[in-house]
Amino acid sequence: MEAAAQSVVALNGLFARELAEMALPWKAEEAPDPRLLVLNEPLAAELGLDPLFLRSPEGLLLLTGNLVPPGATPVAQGYAGHQFGWYAPRLGDGRALLLGELADADGRLLDVHLKGSGRTPFARNGDGRAVVGPMLREFVVSEAMHALGIPTTRSLAVVATGRSVQRETLQPGAVLTRVASSHLRVGSFQYARATGNLDLLRRLADHAITRHCVTATDAERPYLALFQAVVAAQAALVAQWMLVGFVHGVMNTDNMTISGETIDYGPCAFMEAFDPAAVYSSIDEGKRYAYGKQPVVAEWNLARLAEAMLPLFHDDEEQAVALAVESLGAFRRQYSAAWSAGMAAKLGLSDGPDDEETSALVDELLPLLQEGQVDYTSFFRSLGTAASGRDEPARGMFPDPVGFDAWAVRWRARGPDAEAMGRVNPVYIPRNHLVEEALAAATGGDLDPLHRLLAAVTAPYDERPGLERHAAAAPESFGPYRTFCGT
Ligand code: AMP
Ligand code: MG
Repeated sequence: MEAAAQSVVALNGLFARELAEMALPWKAEEAPDPRLLVLNEPLAAELGLDPLFLRSPEGLLLLTGNLVPPGATPVAQGYAGHQFGWYAPRLGDGRALLLGELADADGRLLDVHLKGSGRTPFARNGDGRAVVGPMLREFVVSEAMHALGIPTTRSLAVVATGRSVQRETLQPGAVLTRVASSHLRVGSFQYARATGNLDLLRRLADHAITRHCVTATDAERPYLALFQAVVAAQAALVAQWMLVGFVHGVMNTDNMTISGETIDYGPCAFMEAFDPAAVYSSIDEGKRYAYGKQPVVAEWNLARLAEAMLPLFHDDEEQAVALAVESLGAFRRQYSAAWSAGMAAKLGLSDGPDDEETSALVDELLPLLQEGQVDYTSFFRSLGTAASGRDEPARGMFPDPVGFDAWAVRWRARGPDAEAMGRVNPVYIPRNHLVEEALAAATGGDLDPLHRLLAAVTAPYDERPGLERHAAAAPESFGPYRTFCGT
């Protein structure tokens, strides 16, 4: 068994070796009756993993952490984090393990990570487990994000463990195998800083530079360059979330990566009717993580990262703070530039975001969408049809189209490019009602709706007959959507 695994997968233990103070060697809980629910074959191919092996009994043992390739050291990673603004010094992988790093076809190291693999010393009161619905949700939404061109952790597989897990009701247990360019979080730096071990903090930053921004090595201040790279990556990432109407739902600092990949799809949702105040998570009572607040929250989180990294910026604290403040100042500019350019592209306007009339068109459109409670995704897709001469689908979304008509005259005068719009405005996003429907069916044993949903959202710009339902907003009977952290 071990020989088979060794021939198929060679895992590095870079994090475990370099950052032993934050890496607790641990073992996955046994899965009594593992059954593969979904395997991401294109991703397996990118990783050089044989899908036939992954589907085999040994493969399922590997995917649940029950077969450890020789030489690998699975670890629970330690991290801290601000959760809804409150600092928690010891979070860490309570129900997850980093199996190790795998080199992809280009030699780039990627984390192979398990979620739902049993209690670890970081578990606090949790049971260490995960259940089928939420793990499939992460699979669907992360792969949809990837297909939309948005940086994200990837999902390799979901395996049902064969164990019943107590949630509000008994649910089938599952393990998600996740792949990421790393699992370093803002909270990882907060954890290292809180130990008071400056050498650990420095090693963590060096590790991050090696994995995410080797160019920082040549900078005058490599650690400041690392921080600036994280600021830039997060500004670009959150702009992309905003452009597709994605609400992360739980932007705690432990759920924000150093790589700039989206991570931890818990109570996330795609907004339908455009609304800056949109919140879906049942526990976000203060609406801290509303759609429209995401850029400000990201900036707040980056300020926490700066605090954690401060001693690395300069020996003199005052000068370190000045450097951090200056670097963080770039966030707003970078975010605005990325968002404005993205909006101009969504409108099919190539004259660019700096054009005054283009930015006026954007500024005037959003209140119209909000007032008319217009479905954000369908609107922009239909606007592509309007660019090729047929206004009605877009116009028909407004209860009162007067404002839209006036806007559309000015917009059309700019010569929007319908074809370009079709490449940036998706037809298919993981709509909440379809995600819920697919997860409920899968939990009951029927995987067909899940596969149909995956087919739609993994080719989001490619409109296909037979998938009309997947392009439409939720029926009114679906009601206001609520998501839960109880994953
Ligand atoms: P999350 O809200 O999923 O980002 O998780 C926040 C923290 O809670 C992390 O430290 C997780 O490892 C931990 N956690 C979440 N669910 C469980 C669980 N069922 N058992 C143990 N730890 C958990
Ligand atoms: Mg998390």
